[in-house]
Amino acid sequence: MGVLALQGAYAAHRAMLETLHVETRWVREPSDLNGVVGLIIPGGESTTIGKLLVREGLDVAIREAVHDGLPVFGTCAGMILMASRIVGSEQPRLGVLDVTVARNAFGRQVDSFEANIDIRRYGATPIRGVFIRAPYVVDVGPGVQVLARYNERVVAVQQNRLLAAAFHPELTTDNRMHRAFLDVCLGAQRDRNGSTDG
Ligand code: GLN
Repeated sequence: MGVLALQGAYAAHRAMLETLHVETRWVREPSDLNGVVGLIIPGGESTTIGKLLVREGLDVAIREAVHDGLPVFGTCAGMILMASRIVGSEQPRLGVLDVTVARNAFGRQVDSFEANIDIRRYGATPIRGVFIRAPYVVDVGPGVQVLARYNERVVAVQQNRLLAAAFHPELTTDNRMHRAFLDVCLGAQRDRNGSTDG
């Protein structure tokens, strides 16, 4: 599994992937994408990561890979970078996920907080959502499924092979969301192999 490792909390994703016995490859330049089953974009500072993506030519490379079917999972800043639209910002982004996000959207009083987030498809027990200067999704395009809301605000979405969360499942011990993403990656791999066979 590729994990974008330009800035931010990428190490926590590796620790989470280890619990699923999945090997991590740090992605720092376009050639690192060769052969990865999926890509995780971590939390951090989305403006910084966005600038580094452009500098390394990774913005173009990731967009092309997504176009060719690469699954991507973004958490927090990762979700912001995946979004097509960011309220009040022209910052560099991948723009692959048909949503509008608002940054630092929960307000200053609640800079960081934790809350139980119900994601029915991952089971009856809620996911512990760790929110750190988190964004939320203010609107979604027609191909986007809302996976979870917190206080009416959309905080997790999926659009085909693209998964995004406003919070940080990698900072908990609950690996269900990573497992779900891994399933998406394995499905994509099967589709690819199937299509080369015939
Ligand atoms: N507030 C950050 C941003 O806008 C995201 C914070 C995070 O990833 N924990 O980039």
